[in-house]
Amino acid sequence: EPFSEKLRVPEALTFDDVLLRPMESRVEPDAADVSTHVSRNVELQIPVLSAAMDTVTEAEMAIGMAREGGLGVLHRNMDTPEMEAQITRVKRADELVIRRENVVTAAPEQTVDEVDEMMEHEGVSGAPVVDEDDTVLGIISGTDIRPYLEVGESDTVREAMTDEVITAGEDVSARDALELMYDHKIERVPIVDDDDRLVGLVTMQGILARRENENAARDEDGRLRVGAAVGPFEDERAIAADEAGADVLFIDCAHAHNLNVLDSAKAITETVDADVVVGNVGTREAAEACVDFADGIKVGIGPGSICTTRVVSGAGMPQITAVAEVADVASEHDVPVIADGGIRYSGDAIKAIAAGADAVMLGSYFAGTEEAPGRVITMNGKKYKQYRGMGSVGAMQSGGGERYLKEESDEEYVPEGVEAATPYTGTLASELHQLVGGMQSGMGYVGAETIPEFKERSEFVRVSAAGQTEGHPHDVMITDEAPNYSPNE
Ligand code: 5GP
Repeated sequence: EPFSEKLRVPEALTFDDVLLRPMESRVEPDAADVSTHVSRNVELQIPVLSAAMDTVTEAEMAIGMAREGGLGVLHRNMDTPEMEAQITRVKRADELVIRRENVVTAAPEQTVDEVDEMMEHEGVSGAPVVDEDDTVLGIISGTDIRPYLEVGESDTVREAMTDEVITAGEDVSARDALELMYDHKIERVPIVDDDDRLVGLVTMQGILARRENENAARDEDGRLRVGAAVGPFEDERAIAADEAGADVLFIDCAHAHNLNVLDSAKAITETVDADVVVGNVGTREAAEACVDFADGIKVGIGPGSICTTRVVSGAGMPQITAVAEVADVASEHDVPVIADGGIRYSGDAIKAIAAGADAVMLGSYFAGTEEAPGRVITMNGKKYKQYRGMGSVGAMQSGGGERYLKEESDEEYVPEGVEAATPYTGTLASELHQLVGGMQSGMGYVGAETIPEFKERSEFVRVSAAGQTEGHPHDVMITDEAPNYSPNE
């Protein structure tokens, strides 16, 4: 075949190339139901995931996402024990009765220094004190410890703890536990069996968080949902994440349509209980290659904001077309599709759903929030947080590197991402409110009450360069940034 035939190319489109065609509607945006499936067996209340990146999702982000009804996917630039600890933190966050194996406890012979450090590391502010038989001897909190630390004495826990400890039985209700806490001005109640042995713990924080978040994404036991990224060939990490309680594992690969990667992904799906989402892919053929064993398929070859895959490798697929091709195949098999990367506005997110996605994954959108890892930095009087590609030199150096290019020195990395700063945007809850609210508006314009109905009913129109200009604020000088639109994005 002549080479010139190759230039008879199909067109592939992305977010700015299309708009949703407005349609007859009786749907008020607030009434649009955005619940969805992220994988065969895992339902979410909102169709939104935070990216598995070391500047986006650790336990705090995952807790925030699940409380709002979405899913955080823990990144894999951490060792397996750290990942297990973070999964446990999410699972423990809103439990009514934290089960014994997840309760952080102190021993009477430990020093207050040790316990202080341990509580800090585990992210708890108090711990029941138990002997070798798990009999509850007391309870110790930051308040008990502080006076000792201040005078620089390192006494034992037995000295410092409160030994008149209020406990409750295993069948305690949230209401009773709360009443106990109010009556005794305490924040945690150890749950004990008939022999006074510790079987669990109820915390004030846990009860209040549960009340506030009726819309949270929860597993069958009422614990928050959490996802974890695992590399292809990382079978051990996959098994560990599964056993630690991750609800969904995400095979984290820039090009999952690599047959070795698919073999490994398939083997992982056969070993774990959790659902396994395979990605990333961007074509019909790739979807066909994994749809029989994947519990979900993640789409995105090079659309990410910090991503240089397309310029570095010359390969990629504009995201709207990529999502639609994969969704053609996946929807025939009832396998959910996740659109990952390139989403700047709520409008992009709902366009991805119209193209066939069941949920969207975002990195840059969340990287500036309070809940993202990392500190706020100030430059020229403005606040930022760091945001970097997982294929950037910095991210590869701090853990991911050996999984991309074994044992080579820094100069030899061929990165596919950049390191950046993104404006600090405040709380995750308010970012999500804008994102989901905008998506619901889109459903209102199309007249769809649910995500499946929206996917079915929505239609696109093609946008010209002139249409693109018309679609953004134009011919005015913006004086106040809207919470969901800033002119320089
Ligand atoms: P964003 O929402 O910022 O546009 O894109 C986030 C997505 O970009 C991630 O979920 C991930 O799929 C992808 N990504 C993250 N880091 C890199 C990178 O260094 N290179 C490439 N090619 N993609 C990345």
